[in-house]
Amino acid sequence: MTLLGAPVMKGKAQDMAIQHKIDDLSRALERLQHLHAHDALAILKNSLAIPKLLYLLRTSECYDNPLLSQFDDTLRKGLTTILNVDISDQWLQASLPVGHGGLEIRSARMLAPSAFLVSAASRLSLQQAILPDSIRTLTDQSTESAESSWADLANSPKPAAETHHIQKVWDGLVATNFKSAILSRARCTVDRARLLAASSPHSGDWLHAPPITAVGLRLSDEAVRFAVAHRLGSKACEPHTCVCGKAVDGRGLHGLSCPEAPRDNNVTAISATSCGELSNAHRCRQSMNQSV
Ligand SMILES: [Zn+2]
Repeated sequence: MTLLGAPVMKGKAQDMAIQHKIDDLSRALERLQHLHAHDALAILKNSLAIPKLLYLLRTSECYDNPLLSQFDDTLRKGLTTILNVDISDQWLQASLPVGHGGLEIRSARMLAPSAFLVSAASRLSLQQAILPDSIRTLTDQSTESAESSWADLANSPKPAAETHHIQKVWDGLVATNFKSAILSRARCTVDRARLLAASSPHSGDWLHAPPITAVGLRLSDEAVRFAVAHRLGSKACEPHTCVCGKAVDGRGLHGLSCPEAPRDNNVTAISATSCGELSNAHRCRQSMNQSV
């Protein structure tokens, strides 16, 4: 049974609603592959991924539905194809907010308990006003269950009561916990420095900028690919020898300090130039498409 488009209970109606969202997302991702990467990323982030699912997350008790993992998998694979960057091992970071070092392509499983709890807190006063006295004081078991799921993700005490209606507060504690976990698993100082730099103020401002060519805000596909790969620590190119004679590994970080690279403010262009973007990008795209 659904009410105003939201499944009232767990079960078949909820599964069908989420499956419908997964099918819609798959169709959208297929079409986004035909756009430039920056356009596709902006549309996916701001309109098509979580924005299309958020109403369901807020109105239905679906935070523990296994189909949310399928939604995340579909999103991750589509994002890999759009960006031409393998983010299989970096999905957790990619799904964090920009301020926490991610791409803000949010994971449904990570966001679901926060979204439901915000909705529950926002409707509480109206709920108390319209319910009869006999059931007004009953414990809302769905909220207790959502709080338990949220606590597993956030590993933190509940936020202050006056902030329970702000999704950013609930979600921020979850994102902070995941960011700390990713930092603690950093394998080397380079990875740790990258994670700290990615979450520093303004380092991800380009992810908020609308891709408008007329004012110079639109990045090329290669610039987006390198920016994302450097942010997430993904493979950016095939290992090769730079024109300066030094070996370049798959991350392509050498391009940021290569003495032969052009000196300007466009670091992604520097990296792309130093890494021989055309041939390696082509090989990389081929291997991505095979792995997805
Ligand atoms: Zn070099």
